[in-house]
Amino acid sequence: MPAESKTVLITGASSGIGEATARRLAGLGHRVLLGARRTDRLAALAGELRAAGASVAHRELDVTSLDSVRAFADAGVAEYGGIDVLINNAGVMPLSPIEDLRITEWEQMIDVNLRGVLHGIAAVLPQMRRQAGGHIVNVSSVAGHRVDPTAAVYSATKFAVAAVSEGLRQESRDIRVTVVSPGFTQSELTHRGGSPEAQGAARTAAEQLAIPASAIADAIAFAIDQPANVDVNELVVRPTAQG
Ligand code: NDP
Repeated sequence: MPAESKTVLITGASSGIGEATARRLAGLGHRVLLGARRTDRLAALAGELRAAGASVAHRELDVTSLDSVRAFADAGVAEYGGIDVLINNAGVMPLSPIEDLRITEWEQMIDVNLRGVLHGIAAVLPQMRRQAGGHIVNVSSVAGHRVDPTAAVYSATKFAVAAVSEGLRQESRDIRVTVVSPGFTQSELTHRGGSPEAQGAARTAAEQLAIPASAIADAIAFAIDQPANVDVNELVVRPTAQG
């Protein structure tokens, strides 16, 4: 069990890293509020975790809507009386070469991966200031450190997440900010959108290399369970064999 049981809001908790993080944190005794658009998945996960004795709530969430993210944060306060941690995890990665001009997918990545993170910060910051404390964990990527062909726009959003996180960290004296940057990880990230060639290549690489989502959940749990005056600024976690 962690030293202190916390209220943790997780975006994108219906699959992959978000789901694994919900399992890990609930298992450690934290109270978790799960958000995503696929509420059937959330309900099943919440039911399973509650049956194991955890304190879990869930709510429909679309991070591209500030109103939706604010309602999610309000639900956390109503259910648990405050928000100790927000994990901005929701993300999409429809890969393609720039010259394909898949502009709708560029905008989707900006809306979910960058605007979604900003909406999360905007929704919880007033509450965390009132509490004089809190922790925001932003899930970036190895692609937030390097750019590869077909991943230019995805990388741009993840570089931006790192920049926003560093700015927020510098401006905060009582709110911890952590960036978690995974490498290839088992999830549903390559299942939707993108050009068939680029997504196929990403799926093949992931099948050969990917580490379980629980490895990223463990890194997030490590950052959360540090004392309030210890801010883990960034954790990069990738498969040993990833270049
Ligand atoms: P998944 O596709 O399995 O999970 C993505 C999650 O984001 C889902 O729960 C999905 O839920 C949610 N989501 C997508 N759009 C929205 C939206 N508009 N509003 C709310 N939730 C949304 O992929 P991962 O678990 O891999 O992705 C989690 C994070 O990890 C992402 O930020 C991703 O960029 C990052 N990452 C992943 C890596 C990997 O190799 N897997 C590597 C590096 C970073 P729903 O569709 O139900 O709304």
